[in-house]
Amino acid sequence: MSAIQAPRGTFDVLPADAARRAVLEDRAHRVLGAAGYARIETPTFEATELFARGVGESTDIVQKEMYTFDDGGGRSLTLRPEGTAPVCRAYLEHGMHKLAQPVKLWYLSSFYRAEAPQRGRYRQFWQVGAEAIGSPSAETDAELILLLAELLGTVGVREVRLRLSSLGTPATRAEYREELTAFLHAHEDGLSPEVVSRIDLNPMRAFDADDRSTAATMRDAPLLLDRLAPADAEHFARVRELLDAAEQPYELDPTLVRGLDYYARTVFEFASDALGAQSGVGGGGRYDGLIEQLGGSPTPASGWAAGVERMLLAAGDLPVAAEAVDLFVAQAAPEAASGAFALAHEARHAGLRAQMELAGRSLKGQLRHADRVGARYVAIVGPPGEGVGFRDMESGDQTELEARSVIARVLRGSSL
Ligand code: ATP
Ligand code: MG
Repeated sequence: MSAIQAPRGTFDVLPADAARRAVLEDRAHRVLGAAGYARIETPTFEATELFARGVGESTDIVQKEMYTFDDGGGRSLTLRPEGTAPVCRAYLEHGMHKLAQPVKLWYLSSFYRAEAPQRGRYRQFWQVGAEAIGSPSAETDAELILLLAELLGTVGVREVRLRLSSLGTPATRAEYREELTAFLHAHEDGLSPEVVSRIDLNPMRAFDADDRSTAATMRDAPLLLDRLAPADAEHFARVRELLDAAEQPYELDPTLVRGLDYYARTVFEFASDALGAQSGVGGGGRYDGLIEQLGGSPTPASGWAAGVERMLLAAGDLPVAAEAVDLFVAQAAPEAASGAFALAHEARHAGLRAQMELAGRSLKGQLRHADRVGARYVAIVGPPGEGVGFRDMESGDQTELEARSVIARVLRGSSL
């Protein structure tokens, strides 16, 4: 029989990777927790309707990347492809509008998208995300951007660039959309067939296309950033002012298009040149229309999500501390097994990091293994009634102890 492998586009988190992830999680907790963001975890699957409404029917995610299934009773469920819509659903479901605003939440969760797998692009992946729901302020946007910059910095993500833009409000976008659509139809000859086919569905995507003719045509296209209503332009200027004051570098990119439909005003994306084609590390923006779209009353909100695997790919070495072992309990003879087991159990109960022999090695093999796992002390338990050989692995010295004084001896530490 052939062995079964993990599905395409998924991966196992092996212990060495798990240790790096734990460091990242710890950093995220510290950076976001310190700014008053509280952790939230939503279900792995949600009603499909949540993403259809909350991500947008015209997006790649909803059109072709969702894992959707029937729950067996005729209801359509979907493995979460992103975290913002679920967090907003939770905000509404739990009446969080009654709390002090903005409600600041963060998550580290797995997400699922049916995409062509490649380096940095998987079908199950993890994101750290932060959302501030209930504030329209430019300060909220700037704070969120700086928090992501801080996280990327503390994780050691290399060659980071920040692109920034504003999408204005829906009214401005609707007007601009008409202007852009007219421009695109008037220049169809210069556009790729794929772009032409999507003009009416999502004209902004034309800025994303990388074929040369489309790119050249788009150089003359009208820019949304030049059409912002005064209040939006003012909001954007304030965000920039705050980033400048914080000495956070960014590039203005009027063609920045986020993959989700619900953004308004501020949008941003961090990329790392240390990554190849999949250079996007994280991004987000303001989504003032989303909560209303999900059935709530109009509520301004802002947030971002960053890919865990891409952060780790673009990060240098992380200081992963090896798990220390205070005591390794060896057994001098098979009759010592029960005594050794009891000692290891008691040692752990006393708060020590203790391991015992589990593979039937010879005494010599056990000592070699204790050395391999980095044990500070080894207790060599004899048959019932006999003492314990107590060895300091640093000095190599060994003495005899009574079994009941071993733990106190380890707790006291220092060399023999
Ligand atoms: P991309 O343009 O690379 O497809 P995206 O715009 O779809 O990214 P978002 O939805 O904004 O990405 O998600 C935020 C971050 O999550 C991305 O910047 C990336 O780091 C990560 N991410 C998105 N999709 C995947 C995936 N399939 N595998 C691994 N990480 C991903
Ligand atoms: Mg994508």
